[in-house]
Amino acid sequence: MSDVELVLRSTRVITPEGTRAAAVAVADGTITAVLPYDTDLPSGARVEDVGDDVLLPGLVDTHVHVNDPGRTEWEGFWTATRAAAAGGITTLVDMPLNSLPPTTTVDHLRIKREVAAAKAHIDVGFWGGALPDNVKDLRPLHEAGVFGFKAFLSPSGVEEFPHLDEERLAAALAEIASFDGLLIVHAEDPHHLDAAPQRGGPRYADFLASRPRDAEDTAIARLIAQAKRFDARVHILHLSSADALPMIAAAKAEGVRLTVETCPHYLTLTAEEVPDGASEFKCCPPIREAANQDLLWQALADGTVDCVVTDHSPSTADLKTADFATAWGGISGLQLSLSAVWTAARDRGHGLEDVVRWMSERTSALAGLDRKGAIAPGRDADFAVLAPDALFTVDPAALQHRNRVTAYAGRTLRGVVRSTWLRGRRIAADGEFTAPEGRLLTRTP
Ligand SMILES: [Zn+2]
Repeated sequence: MSDVELVLRSTRVITPEGTRAAAVAVADGTITAVLPYDTDLPSGARVEDVGDDVLLPGLVDTHVHVNDPGRTEWEGFWTATRAAAAGGITTLVDMPLNSLPPTTTVDHLRIKREVAAAKAHIDVGFWGGALPDNVKDLRPLHEAGVFGFKAFLSPSGVEEFPHLDEERLAAALAEIASFDGLLIVHAEDPHHLDAAPQRGGPRYADFLASRPRDAEDTAIARLIAQAKRFDARVHILHLSSADALPMIAAAKAEGVRLTVETCPHYLTLTAEEVPDGASEFKCCPPIREAANQDLLWQALADGTVDCVVTDHSPSTADLKTADFATAWGGISGLQLSLSAVWTAARDRGHGLEDVVRWMSERTSALAGLDRKGAIAPGRDADFAVLAPDALFTVDPAALQHRNRVTAYAGRTLRGVVRSTWLRGRRIAADGEFTAPEGRLLTRTP
């Protein structure tokens, strides 16, 4: 124990074996032991006792649009990773689109990494992109360390990132399966979107009708069929339609290599409460009705849905117009995701252990980040310290992401992040941040 530099103590440490009073020993940025709370402390180690605040593993958010370089007026690595750190997130994986260039070749990945390197307050990894014309780039990107490949089945919203038709999807999946990679998919079927009524305007009900559940359900059915055909690993991004849950559960039971995420906004906001013209609530697929939300919670509880990620996708405020048809679609949730999910989870009888499983353990597993996602020996000493019963009202001025547009403004949430730790260093506390020390992560071969 002589090399222990830091001991973090709490009466409530969330470990894979449950929550208990413990002293977590850290050396060289790594957790070396999880000891009884009143263990004899090694001499020379700095001791931080957080009392009854909960010590949980830093969250791992595998769905973040940082948009840097290229659309840095929307977001950037400096602001996004500060917002994440303020919210207890210690690792994010950046989506390949909305930056310019998109992460669709090894050269583009290199550019992204160079930009992120000096600005990352937390650890950052990258997804690659699967486009109609870059099948030849997928294996080199995989070997360069991206965690998997994102594809759209319907228009993405930016012209430099076109979607895959059935034939191109099959070609991408065949290639990705050849190296046992992971395809992550925005699943809405373009034909069902085209067939839906497109009224436009400020009414949320009209927007909801324009992105019907059957667009998601059909796309997911197609994906399950293709995953089976190629015995490929497929992950469904931001599931909103609960109607797809039975077929997802059936596919998983059958052994299809399928995982599924949903997002804080689908779990905590409902269509019924979105004011007309309030496009800070616009995202695709959309926030649906309360009854749909109840089923998403059930699916999280029974494991049909694996994990919860933000899909943080900001833009400048001027693009959030009152017309739902033309407003930019995306919800900025990085800093508030833990509190928002915890607030609703607790009301539904879940514990913080469940939240940790959905937002840290399973997201780490999705990306193959075997040093993240748990307070256990050998893992990185990444932590969030949470006052789980403290309440706060969301004030946009306190948010760290670049454009302080938020669907959560004025809401009272439970759970205040007191501090966030990355490899044994306190990187954020009380709105203060250290200089960026995040690392760029690559897929574990
Ligand atoms: Zn997204």
